[in-house]
Amino acid sequence: MTDTRIEVTGLHKSFGTLDVLRGIDFTVPRGTSTVLLGPSGSGKTTVLRSLNVLDTPDRGVIRIDEVSVDFATLPPGKAGRAASQRLRAQSGMVFQSHNLFPHRTVLQNLIEGPVVAQKRPVDEVVAEARVLLDQVGLADRADSYPHQLSGGQQQRVGIARALALKPRVVLFDEPTSALDPELVGEVLAVIKDLAAQGWTTVIVTHEIRFAEHVADQVLFLDGGVIVERGSAAQVIGDPQEERTRRFLRRVL
Ligand code: ADP
Repeated sequence: MTDTRIEVTGLHKSFGTLDVLRGIDFTVPRGTSTVLLGPSGSGKTTVLRSLNVLDTPDRGVIRIDEVSVDFATLPPGKAGRAASQRLRAQSGMVFQSHNLFPHRTVLQNLIEGPVVAQKRPVDEVVAEARVLLDQVGLADRADSYPHQLSGGQQQRVGIARALALKPRVVLFDEPTSALDPELVGEVLAVIKDLAAQGWTTVIVTHEIRFAEHVADQVLFLDGGVIVERGSAAQVIGDPQEERTRRFLRRVL
């Protein structure tokens, strides 16, 4: 198997007359973290949603491990949906707000996907879920309901729930932007831990200092294209493009 976990080639996406992605190319090596930076509306979330096929690109190829979809030739109907579904199953998405089931406990929230969608044995899934809860620092909250948890704890459950499906890649869409400032750190610490453990991650965030710490690769987007790419030290520490500099001046 190749060491390139994600390969994106020539991704294009329009909403009506708005060209949101205008030719996106990048690769993500296995076990590394890629951070997408860029001004609001530059297309970062659309890239993530394309990886998870929540948005269907107009053209371009996305490969995650052995599953590859060429969106220009995606067949209509059932066959196209099946191909999209196979690609979607390769990644787990963590949203701005966790979308937990309010009337289910933390543990029930974690096991729902693996048991119902993946049809895996309950005992095995429960054991794994407890390990994941321990990993995100919530071993003692398995039987709590979401409303009994803080926003940061809820978001950590959301992360554990994404991991419970054993995705090849974890996608984070501004995972801390809905949180009160004092809760941001605990969620970022969990994400950093995952990266250190070798999970492959793609992260959209406005937390530049966090990005500097966690990113093996930074992609700076503007106007639906990648304007600048490289290590955090290169793109954040020593940006070459005026658009990157302007963005960093505004947010730092
Ligand atoms: P970012 O994450 O960088 O802020 P997005 O990918 O969310 O950017 O959005 C890029 C552009 O696409 C924005 O102008 C946004 O309004 C537009 N957009 C995103 N999703 C949709 C949609 N479903 N329908 C119409 N326009 C959309």
